[in-house]
Amino acid sequence: MVERAESESRKLLGRLRDTMASQAAGQERLDQITHLTADSMGTEVCSIYLFRDDETLELCATQGLNPESVHQTRMKLGEGLVGRVARTGKVINAADAPSAKGFRYMPETGEEIYSSFLGVPIQRLGEKLGVLVVQSKEAREFSADEVYALEVVAMVLAEMTELGAFVGEGAALRARHTQPVLIRGVTAQEGTAEGHIWLHEPRVVVTNLVADDPAREHVRLTEAVENLRVSVDQLLAGASGDTEQVQVLEAYRMFANSKGWLRRMEENIDRGLSAEAAVEKEQSDVRARMLQATDAYLRERLQDLDDLSNRLLRILTGQGHQTGAELPENPILVARNIGPGELLEYGRQLRGIILEEGSVGSHAAIVARALAIPLVINAKRIQNEALNGDHVMVDGDQGVVHLRPDDTVVNAFRDKMAMQAKAQERYASIRDKPAVTLCGKTIRLDMNAGLMADLPSLESSGAEGVGLFRTELQFLVRSQMPKRTELAALYARVLDAAKGKRVVFRTLDIGSDKVLPYMQAQDEPNPALGWRAIRVGLDKPGVMRMQLQALLRAANGRPLSLMFPFIAQYEEYTAARAEVDKAIAREKKLGHTLPEKLEIGAMLETPSLAYACKKFYEEVEFLSIGGNDLKQFFFAADRENERVRRRYDTLNVSFLSFLEDIVARCAATNTRLSFCGEDAGRPVEALCLAAIGLHSLSMRPASVGPVKHLLRRCNLDDVRTVIHDARDAGEQSVRPAVMEYLRGLS
Ligand code: PEP
Ligand code: MG
Repeated sequence: MVERAESESRKLLGRLRDTMASQAAGQERLDQITHLTADSMGTEVCSIYLFRDDETLELCATQGLNPESVHQTRMKLGEGLVGRVARTGKVINAADAPSAKGFRYMPETGEEIYSSFLGVPIQRLGEKLGVLVVQSKEAREFSADEVYALEVVAMVLAEMTELGAFVGEGAALRARHTQPVLIRGVTAQEGTAEGHIWLHEPRVVVTNLVADDPAREHVRLTEAVENLRVSVDQLLAGASGDTEQVQVLEAYRMFANSKGWLRRMEENIDRGLSAEAAVEKEQSDVRARMLQATDAYLRERLQDLDDLSNRLLRILTGQGHQTGAELPENPILVARNIGPGELLEYGRQLRGIILEEGSVGSHAAIVARALAIPLVINAKRIQNEALNGDHVMVDGDQGVVHLRPDDTVVNAFRDKMAMQAKAQERYASIRDKPAVTLCGKTIRLDMNAGLMADLPSLESSGAEGVGLFRTELQFLVRSQMPKRTELAALYARVLDAAKGKRVVFRTLDIGSDKVLPYMQAQDEPNPALGWRAIRVGLDKPGVMRMQLQALLRAANGRPLSLMFPFIAQYEEYTAARAEVDKAIAREKKLGHTLPEKLEIGAMLETPSLAYACKKFYEEVEFLSIGGNDLKQFFFAADRENERVRRRYDTLNVSFLSFLEDIVARCAATNTRLSFCGEDAGRPVEALCLAAIGLHSLSMRPASVGPVKHLLRRCNLDDVRTVIHDARDAGEQSVRPAVMEYLRGLS
């Protein structure tokens, strides 16, 4: 079987090679390909349909159909048999096409006289480019080998398209990667940036598709696979424990040793492809299966296989390792996904980040936020559309990417950036002034941090201190558990950098969305409600003890502020506090200097703690409302779930009334209270929080200026009246009323 197919497709490929090498113009090349294919396959018709835009296919070349219809006949995605092939990405092989489901008669082409139809998608690694069709009068189904041969031609077409082979005078195709593209994604870090694309993993371009010497290609493939196996084994040897990384690597190893995978690629070589084209053909098939797979597990495994093919392609082509290459000016990073460690390596030199996947709560998003780099996630197709060095504008506020923007967009975007820069100047001018409202109330504005990289913002933002230092980031960005001495040194550097300003260290908050790569992941049905934060700390106190010791040593006599995350009831607080007492006793015994002052607080992140006993409120030295978690539990709406996370307004009267109850409880017991969720950094939300009595807010550094600017222009008594009036009037959210009040400000 393979023998015959071998000669079929190899013969055809050999003839195509001359076309590929020729200097002919784009249209001429397409015409030659249709001619050659029809001739080789013994069909009357061969036609190439390519996408004009995302929804429309156009007949770009034909042998056998009416030549007048070229560039005239168009169809929508899903329309007719051709449209169906394009939409589903699947082959249609029909002996009696006119009676096949979805057939559409197009009089201008004169195609009604053709009975059999074979259409294959033209796609490159899952990216749809068009449809290749052969038709004949004789009513017959095409053999598997003929289907294979046509698929190979389609692949050659796709590669040539990638290389711009059909662009030029009387062009059949627009030049790829030259047009402006607008991609709508999701905001993960606000801000705007203009710069040039830097692909984290650049596209591999296969230039030699046809094998000159199949025996040599077999050797190349075998050597590359061996190379791949060794590298996977090395990675496995370097990974420790039963981590997710190990599981992925084991899946890699299984695939790398899979006979089926290798055999399919070898067959591709037998049929005339070069080793890299053979890998890519297999990879395209895997991607097509990935699109169809509904089972999440299967999709993940196919994703592993796809990654493995990428590695193999890189080995074969020597492309893809950007060693030595220089970052462009104002680099904007593009990746499918990226780990926090890799992102930190790029650091502040990046102007923006665009991820094809990603999630708001991912570690990469946390790092991007810490570095204040605009980040757009779920930017579909960005990896296919963008080339290294392309001009790009990232609108992190709207979650939009303008790739290769035209002048109108460039001008509008630059105007927006200039306005933002002006606003920044305004904020800078009040940086050293207090956040005093018109009614004379001073609001304390702190910043949230988690990395050493955040600390310089303490000065530039005008924050009074660090109201929340998320210690888990240091654990998340490493590949193994940090040592006590490392942590102590790091915390000491944080305190040094704060130069006496208060830093509130939150003890380790892992679990839920924050999974340490080197700790056994828990398979929990509802991780946000599961074994996380202080629950882990109390059940497995080893890490907490190590961390407390590191904090005490870092303070080395200086004042120290600690708080525990996710306290849901009084006893969790007393148990955690007891750990601190034990740590102090130990340090004392060892002769270490103790902090001159130690304050211990708790985060209020579950509604239960709002109603904890009075004793708790009297004992705890301060409380910080973790609004991100508190809100998700209050409304029962997962903060990670795009479908529901924006569904309920923070300015909903129920939530504000609930917060007012907490304020009242703290006032009654004289407990210091602050708010450190994301809402503290949104000016309108911050204003309302301040108006209901939350006079200490901790936020992203970039938010300190905008929040202070608004607070200084408002009268909290008036805002409180607006809030209460709206509530009394039966409004669901006080936002419209507050916005009305703000419009009335001069
Ligand atoms: C919160 O829940 O509001 C909070 C500040 O903690 P994190 O976002 O780290 O869960
Ligand atoms: Mg929280």
